[in-house]
Amino acid sequence: MDIDELLIIDDCKADFVIYKRLLSSVKHNFDAITHIDSIEGALAYINETKPQCCILDYNLPDGNAKQFVQQLHKSVGGAKFPIIVSTGAGDERIAVEMMQLGVQDYLVKGKMTASELLRAIRNAIRTFEMEQKLHFLAHTDPLTGLLNRALFTNRLEHAVKFCDRNQTELSLIYLDLDNFKLINDSYGHDVGDVVLQNVAKKLTESVRETDSVARLGGDEFVIMLHETQSYQGHFVVQKLLSKIPEAIRLDNLTLHISPSIGLVCYPGTADNYKELMKQADEALYKAKHRGRAQYVKFSQEEKSEWQRKVAMMRAIPEAISNRDIKFAYQPILNVTSQEYDMVEALVRWQFNHSLVPALDVVNLILRNDMYLEFHKFMFLEVLTQLKQWQQNKPSLIMSINIPANIVHNKRVLEILYEQLNRLSIPYSSIVLEITETHLMKKSELTMNVLQEIHDKGIQIAIDDFGTGYSSLEYLSDLPCNKLKIDQKFFRDTRNRKKNRAIIQATTTLGHQLDLKVVAEGIETEFGVEESISLGCDYVQGFWYSQPTYPEDDWCAFIRKAKKSGFKTA
Ligand code: C2E
Ligand code: MG
Ligand code: MG
Repeated sequence: MDIDELLIIDDCKADFVIYKRLLSSVKHNFDAITHIDSIEGALAYINETKPQCCILDYNLPDGNAKQFVQQLHKSVGGAKFPIIVSTGAGDERIAVEMMQLGVQDYLVKGKMTASELLRAIRNAIRTFEMEQKLHFLAHTDPLTGLLNRALFTNRLEHAVKFCDRNQTELSLIYLDLDNFKLINDSYGHDVGDVVLQNVAKKLTESVRETDSVARLGGDEFVIMLHETQSYQGHFVVQKLLSKIPEAIRLDNLTLHISPSIGLVCYPGTADNYKELMKQADEALYKAKHRGRAQYVKFSQEEKSEWQRKVAMMRAIPEAISNRDIKFAYQPILNVTSQEYDMVEALVRWQFNHSLVPALDVVNLILRNDMYLEFHKFMFLEVLTQLKQWQQNKPSLIMSINIPANIVHNKRVLEILYEQLNRLSIPYSSIVLEITETHLMKKSELTMNVLQEIHDKGIQIAIDDFGTGYSSLEYLSDLPCNKLKIDQKFFRDTRNRKKNRAIIQATTTLGHQLDLKVVAEGIETEFGVEESISLGCDYVQGFWYSQPTYPEDDWCAFIRKAKKSGFKTA
């Protein structure tokens, strides 16, 4: 049973007797009044028990009150109970200094009455409770009660220093929920909140009390496992991966959730806590790219890849301003007119003598929050090129890839409209290609934005169709003009029969919905014949031309494209 205890730390027994006598003349709630006469004794005592309040004499035989409070900060992060410092007359300056160190009040010895003493004790307890509450609010996440980012980062910083000093290890786990946005968007924030609280509880239950669990925001959680070797970190991750994926039942809803996890251990790949956080985040990012319920441990191999990525991220702004980022164009054949009616712009960036894959360039730009600068630059480059080509071939259409989460960005769209207006390019000369998988994630908002773009006359194509899971109903509602069937259906020769059926069904469906169908990734004459016989309206691929750098003159570009192509038709 908890007892309410007043602890008096004072080397003078007579003073302790005075306190006791004063308190015996008033009504107080203490079950016990304990006397300790040294700092060392007090430190040992409070290890075992937590008094309700403490009166601390400034001068003690083995140090002073200041040293005692500093020691508490060092060992347990500060006092866990209110402290009143008692000083001699004329020592008010010391008392003020002590209050700055966090004690709640001070008393001048020999000058107090019983009721003053009691009032000081009550005030100190109240102040301490209030401070605790404020501290809690400032350092915890109100939704889940977990630590917040500020406190977690602070703890991580100290823990890393502790590891350095004591040659111990720690593990840092970064976790987020797969498709959480979809839950939030589809069922509302209240449901999302319950999911987050559920997960928070599971995380706390899965680790030791001395470990730190925090919610950084949204569905991002971090866990620091103190004094833990990497194999133990791995073990905890496995535990989380088996414990968290589950069906949460809410009224008549069943939600399936699973986590993606990044793990990094210290010491190892990081030099400090900031790097450690970034590497854990990077490991999570990689895990997410592998699909649902995946886990990646950040190792030396990831580190060299990551360092290259960091170097690339830093180089992007300059690559944009120096026009080192370029665009290659791939012509697209219109089967009916037998002409190249369209051309797709594809980003190209040579970094440190090697070509960065186009998707990596785009992801780096998105992660670097450089999408506004990039799209401004891209629209200027590709539309200026289109303008030039349209002088020879006015009906030419430019297909531009745009990330689904950027298509919602009003500023990006404004920039596109501005450039089109400035160059007097008809809106109908543009196709925006949005990848199907990404399109699936933002239903309501996507619809509205796509409708707005579509109403302006800009065409919309669903890229890599067949890789996502578009429902037919969704597709019929989607304001779009073209379906680009994913390359894999044309190239995967092992499942040729099945793929042919899929292509045929897609072209039929597309035509029923008034959409033009594009065959992508066609590398052979056989592929060309097959896609045409299955009903595709456009054909694009290495058979006609690889994506290539433009010539000013459209005809010259087509000649060059054909020449540099895999094979020419
Ligand atoms: P995507 O839009 O589906 O583009 C087609 C990709 O297939 C291009 O790869 C193109 O070079 C390649 N390709 C075309 N024909 C053939 C073929 O016959 N055989 C083979 N094996 N490949 C062929 P790339 O340029 O590496 O681009 C990959 C993806 O990166 C693109 O897929 C697109 O989603 C994205 N991307 C490229 N440029 C941009 C850009 O400027 N902005 C955005 N947001 N995404 C881009
Ligand atoms: Mg595309
Ligand atoms: Mg594609």
